[in-house]
Amino acid sequence: MKVNFLDLKSQYLSIKDEIDQAIQNVLVNTAFTAGPYVKSFEDNFAKRHNAKYCVGVNNGTSALHATLMALEIKAGDEVIVPVNTFFATPESVSLTGATPVFVDCEGKFYNIDPDKIENAITKNTKAIIAVNLYGQPAQLDKIKGIANKNNLILIEDCAQSHISELNGQSVGTYGLCGCFSFYCGKNLGAYGEGGAVITNDEKLYKKIMIIRDHGMSQKYHHEIVGHNYRMEGIQGAILDVKLKYLDEWTVTRRKNAELYGKYLKDCKEIVLPEEMPNAKHVYHLFVIRAERRDELMDYLKENEIYTGLHYPIPCHLQNAYKFLGYKEGDSPVSEKYSKEILSLPMSEQLKEDEIKYVSEKIKEFYTNSMFSV
Ligand SMILES: *Cc1c(COP(=O)(O)O)cnc(C)c1O
Repeated sequence: MKVNFLDLKSQYLSIKDEIDQAIQNVLVNTAFTAGPYVKSFEDNFAKRHNAKYCVGVNNGTSALHATLMALEIKAGDEVIVPVNTFFATPESVSLTGATPVFVDCEGKFYNIDPDKIENAITKNTKAIIAVNLYGQPAQLDKIKGIANKNNLILIEDCAQSHISELNGQSVGTYGLCGCFSFYCGKNLGAYGEGGAVITNDEKLYKKIMIIRDHGMSQKYHHEIVGHNYRMEGIQGAILDVKLKYLDEWTVTRRKNAELYGKYLKDCKEIVLPEEMPNAKHVYHLFVIRAERRDELMDYLKENEIYTGLHYPIPCHLQNAYKFLGYKEGDSPVSEKYSKEILSLPMSEQLKEDEIKYVSEKIKEFYTNSMFSV
């Protein structure tokens, strides 16, 4: 049996008529960039997260960068970011000229370790970007307390955590704002690229609206130097259709996570992901830690089961950040985990027999190789 990491085609086929109609509407109305379809999606996406405002942009990296620009974060400033995240998080900081300051993850839930944040604060620190990684909120209440106490802005990177919650409150609303990605493989994915910022802060909203459109307050009146970060009309229309299914799809992802738990609970060579108390994990990724990870990954691939690594090289050890002077040993937990983590196939399209098959192959790998060594 072949098990893909993701199955975007069957997702499309399950809602094909509605998607095709939505695209057709954009074409007929020539609403190609920003415009009414993007606005409708923005309103619905804000509402779903109980936020007042939403700005749609062209990708998640732009969402983060436009936010940092709006906050006037610049060269000489420092922004605290987790080591264990996708590269775009620190990259957005670097794009402003500011310096990302890396903090290790905690051992159980893989998100930034709140207990290590205060050590990283200096007189130049302006903000903290908390990433809700793999679909699980960071310890946002604790991090918000640290940010408030130290007069720092809290930004949430929600690229992997659409409609995730902590204590019943949506992610993206603990901080000043939440930055989302709609990259095609995310839980809510465009057919191409997309991103958004949600916030309850009217001033920030207005400024990001201007930044996404060349700093214009009205046509050809440029108040500040901005960017072209507009969301395309077709993506807005597609996202508005898919948003209606997101709750249902998320329920299925959570159910699939439970099924992995059921079929893999006796496998002592791996560590299953855990949901933080009071959190709603939306399982963008189903990340286990495994003994002899690379061999297991190869074995699964030989059996046509496709897995991923999120992420094989912690951000502080990337070549691009050599100039910052970090070295091995600076973030011991993330460094150790980068050699153990393995993302199993996960989506709302995944079926129980596939989950069962993947789980059996994992157990088979450990039983067979036990005899061969
Ligand atoms: C995907 C992702 C981004 C960047 O989003 P793009 O839309 O690819 O630019 C940022 N942060 C995290 C944690 C991500 O997973």
